[in-house]
Amino acid sequence: MATERTLSIIKPDATKRNLTGKIVAKFEDAGLRVIASKRIHLTAAQAGEFYAEHKERGFYGELVAYMASEPVVVQVLEGEGAIAKNREVMGATDPAQADAGTIRKEFALSKAENSVHGSDSPASAAREIAFFFSGLELVG
Ligand code: ATP
Ligand code: MG
Repeated sequence: MATERTLSIIKPDATKRNLTGKIVAKFEDAGLRVIASKRIHLTAAQAGEFYAEHKERGFYGELVAYMASEPVVVQVLEGEGAIAKNREVMGATDPAQADAGTIRKEFALSKAENSVHGSDSPASAAREIAFFFSGLELVG
């Protein structure tokens, strides 16, 4: 499998509870390398643009307000099959459905406040990485 890069966000519920290090340890233990990282506080406009694909869904307003409610940590993770591997480490969207040992099983509060975001395809990863980082900031 090829080396890939994927975009991760440690979401407001997790930064607020001081879980950044525990979550990064899960990525590293799975063989993913953090090649870019920053802590930012998104505006509602930025969160809305990032999640524009969900504009028509009933939870969009709630999602945007939540993502702008507290700081987030945005990171680029690199590794073999990084996009799928990160999704595995994250677990299912709803923590009640997530496998044991996954980030969402261990840390998520609910389907909405589910601690992490991860790109879901190569096209999403490319768009999402470029949304937050310049090429100069990716240090593999
Ligand atoms: P993400 O895109 O954040 O990695 P995901 O791909 O597992 O998560 P999506 O279906 O893309 O899930 O939904 C994006 C985010 O919107 C979810 O992670 C969650 O925070 C929120 N969300 C999804 N479904 C619901 C819902 N039914 N009610 C409230 N919030 C939801
Ligand atoms: Mg998604």
